[in-house]
Amino acid sequence: MTSGFTHEIDKCVAEINKLATAGADFVRVAVPERKDTQALKELLPRVSVPVVADVHFHFQRALEAIDAGIHKIRLNPGNITDRAQVRDVIQACKAKNIPIRVGVNEGSIVERKDKQRRMKELGGVFSNNKHGHFLAIMISKLEEYLEIFQEENFENIVISAKSIDPELVIAAYKEISSRFDYPLHLGVTHAGPKETGTIRSVVPLGHLLCSGIGDTLRISYANDPIYEVEDGLELLYVLGLRTRVGAELIACPTCGRIQVDLFKLVQDVRKQLSKEISLPIKVAVMGCVVNGPGECEGADIAIFAGDRKGIIYVQGQRVASVPEAEILERLLDECRKFEQEVKAGRTKLGEKKVDILPPDPIGELGSGWEKIEQERGVSLPVVK
Ligand code: SF4
Repeated sequence: MTSGFTHEIDKCVAEINKLATAGADFVRVAVPERKDTQALKELLPRVSVPVVADVHFHFQRALEAIDAGIHKIRLNPGNITDRAQVRDVIQACKAKNIPIRVGVNEGSIVERKDKQRRMKELGGVFSNNKHGHFLAIMISKLEEYLEIFQEENFENIVISAKSIDPELVIAAYKEISSRFDYPLHLGVTHAGPKETGTIRSVVPLGHLLCSGIGDTLRISYANDPIYEVEDGLELLYVLGLRTRVGAELIACPTCGRIQVDLFKLVQDVRKQLSKEISLPIKVAVMGCVVNGPGECEGADIAIFAGDRKGIIYVQGQRVASVPEAEILERLLDECRKFEQEVKAGRTKLGEKKVDILPPDPIGELGSGWEKIEQERGVSLPVVK
């Protein structure tokens, strides 16, 4: 979701396109005022992905956004409750084949004074659940709201049920997926700063995705939304739910054997790879030769650091030994060349079984491999 004002058209267009370039499939914008929906007509033709209008309190904003050519509407049942108004939005979306997301966020579901009988029933059903009260409100609110859509014979619906509580998110989506047959948009709402929000978000979303629940997702941070896209994509990549675009970076956590500034090297490599490499090349940056070779098995390209040096391997073949100051540029150079080779069809990603043997440390990396192995009484492997 964008973080700026939608009516600041140039800035909003730039932000949407930046998120799209980072990998967002679609982007949501807030339209709290008429000037925001008015901006959509000029904004939409200039962006490269579909845009969702987040409508909070005014159903008119939804109608205006639909008129402007928006691709999807998000309604909050906690805020737009008038059935006639909801019907108007449904009919306008129906006429243009625009989907509607019904988002029952924990924070916007207000318990009404005249508690419904159905909610009480559901409260009984969920009485053993720690979050039974909220689940009952969410389900009853959804049932009540979706009734309007059913009466209008409108099925182009996506449901979300976000909360800040990871356990409630898991429980709510599991319950909803078992009760309703609509696509689900996953999210943990107001998850906080990225530093803590990452765990809060990816634990429940990963759990749900691994259970086969979820069709779209948004990660929400109090930070630049670019991180939301990056982390959301990474979650899909590591779960094997999406083919990776760009290089995959493996790096060792470092330990007392390290003899180069690996943290900086890894960050520099990551930054450059994300800018320059489009194929999912597996690149390993390892701090030494002791565990490095085993840990980076499967990498297309690997570097083992040592005593202010680095030895670079491409598809298991040693191609260079360079001083620390030259590691970054030489490694990137090998990545660029390798990508060209793959693109030209002369080799394939992961094609050659990468069997990287530890480089000979004697007089080269000085990482103590030989000493360690001798102490263990293990003979050194043959060095390629
Ligand atoms: S690769 Fe070497 S430096 Fe990195 S964590 Fe493993 S043993 Fe330590």
